[in-house]
Amino acid sequence: MHQLPHSSGPIPYRLKVSTRRRTVGMRVDENGLTVNAPSHIGKKALESMLLERADWIITKLGEWQARQVQEMTWRDGEPLLFLGNSIRLGVTPDVRNRKPRLEAGCLLISMPEPENRVMVCRKVLQWYRREALDDFARRVQLLAARLGVTVQSISLSSARTRWGSCNSRGEIRLNWRLIQAPPHLIHYVAAHELAHLKEMNHSPKFWEIVETLCPEYTSARRELQALSAQLHRMG
Ligand SMILES: [Zn+2]
Repeated sequence: MHQLPHSSGPIPYRLKVSTRRRTVGMRVDENGLTVNAPSHIGKKALESMLLERADWIITKLGEWQARQVQEMTWRDGEPLLFLGNSIRLGVTPDVRNRKPRLEAGCLLISMPEPENRVMVCRKVLQWYRREALDDFARRVQLLAARLGVTVQSISLSSARTRWGSCNSRGEIRLNWRLIQAPPHLIHYVAAHELAHLKEMNHSPKFWEIVETLCPEYTSARRELQALSAQLHRMG
C-alpha cells in the first residue's frame, strides 16, 4: 500500500504500474483507492495528480464507507471514533458503576451489568456528550475572540441533518456527533456558525468570513459530508 499525504490524513492507495498505459486512472471500490499508472510517470507527478482529485477521492471513499457502516452492538471491543481516531469500547464487569475513561485507545466502561446494552449505550453517549461540550466550548470561545463576536451560550444538538445552528442572540448549538470527527472538521463547523453572527446568510461575504478562520473550508465541507454516515452510526 502507498500513502498519499493529505491535510485530512494520509490516503492509502494500491498502485498498479503498466508499461502499456498512457494515462493515469483511478478507481474507488470496496478495496479502497486503486491507481493505474503508466510506468514512465514519477511518484511526485503522480501524487500531485492524485491530490488534484483528492476531493473526489475522499467523497467516493466516504460513499463506500457509508455502505459499510456497521450497526452498533454496544459490546466489548466495538470500534468507535473519537476526534478522528479509531478507538475501541472496553466493557468490563465491576461491582460499582465507574466513570468512563479513555486509556490507550480504549474507552473503558466498568459496570455491574456489562451485557446490558441499553446501559452501555447510555454511558457511552453521556461520555461523548460531555467531551463534546468541553471541546466545542473551548474551540468556539477561541474562534469568537479572533472574529470579535460575542457568544451568549453554547449547547449541544443531536439533529439528524444539521451539524450546527445559531441565532441572532449569539446562541450556538453544535451536534455532539461532531466530537467523533477529526478536529479540523469541528473547527470548520464552529467557524461556520460563528461567521453567521456577522452574516446571517450564505452570501459570498459570509464565506469570506469563514475563510479567515478556516482557509480550507471547501475541502472540510466535502470531508464532513463523506463522513456523515459514519458519524450518524452512533445515537
Ligand atoms: Zn450556515
